[in-house]
Amino acid sequence: MIPYGRQSISTADIEAVTSVLKSDFLTQGPQVPRFESNIAQLTQSKFAIAANSATSLLHVACLALGVTKQSTVWTSPISFVASANCALYCGAKIDFVDIDPLTANMCPKALEEKLAKASKNDSLPKVIIAVHMAGHSCEMKQISQLAKHYGIKVIEDAAHAIGGKYLNFPIGSCQFSDITIFSFHPVKIITTAEGGVATTNNPQFAKSMRMTCSHGITKKPVDLYQTDEGAWFYEQHSLGFNYRMTDLQAALGSSQLNQLSSFVNRRNLLASGYQKHFNETEIEVILPLNNSLSAYHLLIVKLPEHCNRKRIFEAMRDAGIGVHVHYIPIHLQPYYQALGFKKGNFPAAETYYQSCLTLPLFPDLTTEEQDFICDTLKELVR
Ligand SMILES: *Cc1c(COP(=O)(O)O)cnc(C)c1O
Repeated sequence: MIPYGRQSISTADIEAVTSVLKSDFLTQGPQVPRFESNIAQLTQSKFAIAANSATSLLHVACLALGVTKQSTVWTSPISFVASANCALYCGAKIDFVDIDPLTANMCPKALEEKLAKASKNDSLPKVIIAVHMAGHSCEMKQISQLAKHYGIKVIEDAAHAIGGKYLNFPIGSCQFSDITIFSFHPVKIITTAEGGVATTNNPQFAKSMRMTCSHGITKKPVDLYQTDEGAWFYEQHSLGFNYRMTDLQAALGSSQLNQLSSFVNRRNLLASGYQKHFNETEIEVILPLNNSLSAYHLLIVKLPEHCNRKRIFEAMRDAGIGVHVHYIPIHLQPYYQALGFKKGNFPAAETYYQSCLTLPLFPDLTTEEQDFICDTLKELVR
């Protein structure tokens, strides 16, 4: 089966991990700070904080931005459940902003209207989480202008998007947000097996996220409340977690970063190959904005209305093509239905879900495989 996504591991990656195994530190050694500084440099951000997953970072980012039981967080219904769960971890309320059917990203117009209404009845969110679906940047300029106008903080869930750009700023620069989160799960653009990094330009948010990822503890002399009693001394200032990344993972991450631009180039090349194949067919490829460079985590097509998605999905899988569906609208999950969300709440997201199909896209996919995938799909749609 050709998978929809898979990691590319080089001999340099294997050597990087092996050398950590032979070193003094498997965790809390020099590799994590090195990886963090590599990411900060790449994204042109001031601070980068590594953790054991993007999910953990979404949680600590919400906490750093002051999300509490009294808060509401808004995100896109077309995302992985982690984009919404993070608000619930903080005891906050969650709500969604419907998508633009063209991009599958949060619709700035829908956001504007929902904010105007919420402002009237005093129910504005504390934080908006914009998800760069498939690696395609959201309209961050518009989202950030709206958020600033109402005094709302912005997190970019860029789990799909490392290596991409928006208006010539690297994703993660936080030019249009307070915090950006990347995921390095093996299906994503680069991998650390499990893991993620948050970037920010705000020293308070950086400090808060770093401490919350490690039990709420600090050892830094400048941050201590009491007098430093010696080299063993540390203080706990808040109730944190153990969300740390290991040195093994960070070494893999730094090594993978060396290939990031070649991964993103290859993904873009394959994406334009898909586009060429589906030109003048009824199959519509979800494309990035003109003012951006997508990292192309996912190649998503919308099938024409007359197609039975389930039948095509199964026929593709039977042909050995590991197609997938991204995503089931979060508000339709039983857990979220139990919170009061209903079918019909976010119609654009629900319509998108009916016809979307993810096709294989990863650096080692060959053009022969791609031709086979496209020919098979075109035949099924016809
Ligand atoms: C993968 C993903 C996450 C979670 O990432 P982990 O590193 O697996 O925790 C969050 N948001 C989106 C949009 C994702 O695709």
